[in-house]
Amino acid sequence: GGESRRPIVSGNWKLNPLTAGEAKETLKLLAANQRAMEESGKDVPEVILFPPYPFVPLASEVLEGTTVAIGGQDCSLYDKGAYTGEVSVSQLASLGCNHLLVGHSERRTVFDETDAEINKKVHLGLNAGLRVMICIGETEDEFLADMANAVNEIQVKKALSGVTAAQMEDITIAYEPVWAIGTGKVCDAPTAQEVHAAVRRVIDELYPDTGVAAKVRILYGGSVTPDTIDVTMRESDIDGVLVGGASLVADKFSRIIDFSS
Ligand code: PGA
Repeated sequence: GGESRRPIVSGNWKLNPLTAGEAKETLKLLAANQRAMEESGKDVPEVILFPPYPFVPLASEVLEGTTVAIGGQDCSLYDKGAYTGEVSVSQLASLGCNHLLVGHSERRTVFDETDAEINKKVHLGLNAGLRVMICIGETEDEFLADMANAVNEIQVKKALSGVTAAQMEDITIAYEPVWAIGTGKVCDAPTAQEVHAAVRRVIDELYPDTGVAAKVRILYGGSVTPDTIDVTMRESDIDGVLVGGASLVADKFSRIIDFSS
């Protein structure tokens, strides 16, 4: 990671685990590991957990006293009213969420979310006082066709439309090559580094002479495990990770956190 940027380790639980009981067990282990790490006095990265909505209060309760922050995995395009089944940014904020994940590839592909909707959610999150993590990433076909940088540039620009340089303080980018998500095919670190550097150049173009590009944290996501974290974090433009599967196993997630400080 970059010298001056504090690393972020984030965990995306997606639609897991099945029950609140299982969630509580994992959270308890995670809290114990985290407390031990924090009490040891060593530098810990910023840690953010994105549990399913119903487990947000449980996660806040069990992780209380640690520095782990909680976020929503998505949000409704609406704030309140007759929108059955939806969850708004205001509701998430009122439950103690400080973060919002937006534009995950599963939202884009399984739920047909568009760049315009993602941009709207970015603004909803910022306006509700949340810090917003925007996911971008190319598919395998796009990667093989050498289109990764072009695809990511478009996704970044559309997601950030109307976001001011001042608001960029509350934005994090997560580069997640779609072909690396949940596949065990982790993107090799030098390749990921090239994409991160390209994304940072796009942000520099969008916010010239502001210092924004040097400050914004760009995370890598896709099959991150404790075995690959070391190599990943050594790259200068990789400022942390967004972890799916491995974040559901407390000891694995804690080892990733430990290696990222
Ligand atoms: P994975 O998921 O770590 O299980 O590949 C990453 C993500 O989708 O955020």
